[in-house]
Amino acid sequence: MRILRLILLLCSWLWTAEIHSSVWKKGETFSEYLQRNAVPLELLKKITPEDAKYLSEIQAGEPFFELKEGETLLQALIPIGEEMQIQLSRDLQSGKYRFDIIPIVYRQVQNTTVVEIRKGCYSDLDRETHNPRLGFLLKHLYKGAVDFRRLRAGDRLAFEYRQKSRLGKPWGQPEIRGAVIQTRGKKRFIFVDEEGNAWEDVEKRVRYTKTGKRSVNYTVTQTVRERVRGKRFRLPVPGARITSRFTYKRWHPILHRYRPHLGVDWGAKRGTPIHAVAKGQVIYAGWMRGYGKVVKIRHARGFVSLYAHQSRILVHRGSYVNQGQVIGRIGSTGRSTGPHLHFGLYRNGRAVNPLKYLGRSTAGVRVRKVTRHRIKMEKYTIVKTKRVPIKGAKEMKARLLEALGADPAAHRWEAYEKSFVRVGDRDRHTEKNGKTRWSMR
Ligand SMILES: [Zn+2]
Repeated sequence: MRILRLILLLCSWLWTAEIHSSVWKKGETFSEYLQRNAVPLELLKKITPEDAKYLSEIQAGEPFFELKEGETLLQALIPIGEEMQIQLSRDLQSGKYRFDIIPIVYRQVQNTTVVEIRKGCYSDLDRETHNPRLGFLLKHLYKGAVDFRRLRAGDRLAFEYRQKSRLGKPWGQPEIRGAVIQTRGKKRFIFVDEEGNAWEDVEKRVRYTKTGKRSVNYTVTQTVRERVRGKRFRLPVPGARITSRFTYKRWHPILHRYRPHLGVDWGAKRGTPIHAVAKGQVIYAGWMRGYGKVVKIRHARGFVSLYAHQSRILVHRGSYVNQGQVIGRIGSTGRSTGPHLHFGLYRNGRAVNPLKYLGRSTAGVRVRKVTRHRIKMEKYTIVKTKRVPIKGAKEMKARLLEALGADPAAHRWEAYEKSFVRVGDRDRHTEKNGKTRWSMR
């Protein structure tokens, strides 16, 4: 890159112009800046509303460049963000000012800097780089590894970094790629990966997930329905429809009152056979108020079953019956609205819900829970770490080691001077419509 050094007295054959690096004053507005530099405020009217919004993006404390001839402002370049800048320029012939928003022209510089600690880390770094941001960035990257306050005179520091360069001065955030600090007889490296994370080795530990299949032992609880013979109560009228269920409170259609219904009604045609729900002894066979013709059978384990409203009783009191034996026929005797069986089940003298014992329509089938052991193949995902080389770190380590022993001056970034800035000669002036305008970019 061809760079022409323009010392303060730039183009002294034509006029005396100087480039100043200034800092935007806190609280100063753009129009105040114009007034201070004797720029006519009509310029503000030429700024489109779209561009005017950028005026409020000028940050206080932001460095910017001014090209001045005496007190006359020839050009100002005021950054709005890292990429764009306001260009305020004066036409050399008409003396009129122009407002524009243009890209910031910068170069990307990669450099190795060597610093020997003399006074303090930050001042030594600033002496070598004139870039105070580097010190803070290094300290941040070394956090937890090297305490910068404990660096001593004679310690050495070498690092590689990238930096935008604008008009010969550092611009924007530097990007440190790797560093080594030699302190207390030890060399402490850091290498920065693409994500900007610092690692103390040329390799970094990376987490990754591994997936696969493995066999797993497990237990499963299943519900098993199995037939049970002779143990449970069977249905008294198989296939009949339930017309009324067991309840402690129901509306009684004849009494017109709430009444408990301590049994289950099955509706069926008159004369349909009624079966004993289990084997047992008949303890009652005859008329019972309200229930009409009734049979009661005593079973094992304290159970008694009751069959009411029969049209005909086919067993005698005291006789033994088998499960399923026909003990009478459906009727409507007693307090009844039509032919049906009122079936009651009592356990130890207390009415119980027959359907809980009859197992509804699956009488004779028991439901049981079974736990089984099984083996199955299961997909799994585990998180592991592996060592991954940091791109270019190995080569950088060799360069840093070499630099560490070198003379700091040999690694000084392109000569930076506070008294002048560099301007590309192609940018010195532009010819436009026969008019010459200053152009520093
Ligand atoms: Zn009933």
